[in-house]
Amino acid sequence: MKTSAAVIGAGTSGLIAARRLAQLGIETYVYDQKANLGVPVVASGIISINGLNSLKIGYKPAVTNTLFGANIHASNKVMRIKSNVPVAHVLDRQKLNEICKEESEAAGAHVITGKKITENALDEIGNSSIIVGADGPLSIVARHFGMGGISKYILTYKAEFEMSIENSGSVDLFFDNKIAPGFFAWHCPNSEKIMEVGIGIDSKHGNSKAAFYKFMGTDFCKDISETGKKLGEHASIIPIRTAKKIVDEGKEVLLIGDAAGQVKPTTGGGIIYGGNAAMMAANAIYEHVKNSKPLKDYEKKFKRKYATDIRLHALAHALYSKLSAKGIGRAITLLNALGMESFLGEYGDMDSPKTILKRMLTRKK
Ligand SMILES: Cc1cc2nc3c(=O)[nH]c(=O)nc-3n(C[C@H](O)[C@H](O)[C@H](O)COP(=O)(O)OP(=O)(O)OC[C@H]3O[C@@H](n4cnc5c(N)ncnc54)[C@H](O)[C@@H]3O)c2cc1C
Repeated sequence: MKTSAAVIGAGTSGLIAARRLAQLGIETYVYDQKANLGVPVVASGIISINGLNSLKIGYKPAVTNTLFGANIHASNKVMRIKSNVPVAHVLDRQKLNEICKEESEAAGAHVITGKKITENALDEIGNSSIIVGADGPLSIVARHFGMGGISKYILTYKAEFEMSIENSGSVDLFFDNKIAPGFFAWHCPNSEKIMEVGIGIDSKHGNSKAAFYKFMGTDFCKDISETGKKLGEHASIIPIRTAKKIVDEGKEVLLIGDAAGQVKPTTGGGIIYGGNAAMMAANAIYEHVKNSKPLKDYEKKFKRKYATDIRLHALAHALYSKLSAKGIGRAITLLNALGMESFLGEYGDMDSPKTILKRMLTRKK
């Protein structure tokens, strides 16, 4: 029986898994192809405060801004969701990675950077260690072991602008199928002086860079184009469907995080689901090694906790993807008239539509 673990990928999911495995006394090696972890920063870092607390990371030094709400725009209509208390933090993703690395090393994991794992190397590693595929949306672990099979991707493009920001307490989301087909565009104040502008489009619709520059040409971005100083720009990819298979019991391989498509299909946020899955996977590995329990217990636990939320997110995503900007604008008018702005401000939950539905029915937090 294998008694050690090899985590492929030192993003947040891989490092959280490694920290937990090492805490449980499992000999753990983490490999990442990057010499400088988390660089370049291709993703945003808006994470719910409740979700962050569930990951038990000492994340505070990575906080660059705090958000109280979101403004949802479509066809000149706006829904302003605002809470009286902080809802989410914006985190410096590179710093968050550093903290996760420090925590996993302090727990006893060995983090090896600048080492790209090839498909041949996977067979060798797999002879002696349980493999955790935490190698992102284009996982070679998933491909090599015939797992995964993520059916839907969003292509993204984002840039940061240095500028003066009037209200840094909320994020703006823009829905328009002609500009961001299948997803949305956003303005996120990363801090009081740095505005991130980004866009996602369904991978069927081609080029996210072209979509980004089309969005930058709209009135929504006029102020940013005219007064902001661009600092950098990056393309990336978000998997928005969970992989069909996330455990191979026979080969002792597990997928976590983006490699498993553990992402909210509405917004593309993956840190909370991926981080919690990482801890569940580590616990299942421990139970497998110490008490011969099946690794599949990880998949069962993940589904029990997140399957309903992921289904509701996917439903909401399918709905808004089909609507035109005018259609979403009309929905905003209706929802505002029904008092949803203030309801969501008070009872909303970024991660769990299941919780929002429950609160709608009971009007209790
Ligand atoms: C534009 C954009 C905005 C986003 N905004 C948010 C947000 O606001 N909030 C949120 O929660 N989520 C957000 N996400 C999603 C979030 O970034 C991901 O869900 C999260 O990074 C997944 O972490 P991970 O550790 O699973 O994978 P990754 O972060 O992709 O890490 C995978 C690691 O594996 C390494 N690797 C890959 N192949 C190999 C190999 N062969 N050998 C060795 N190492 C390898 C890579 O170098 C990388 O370090 C966003 C994503 C994008 C693209």
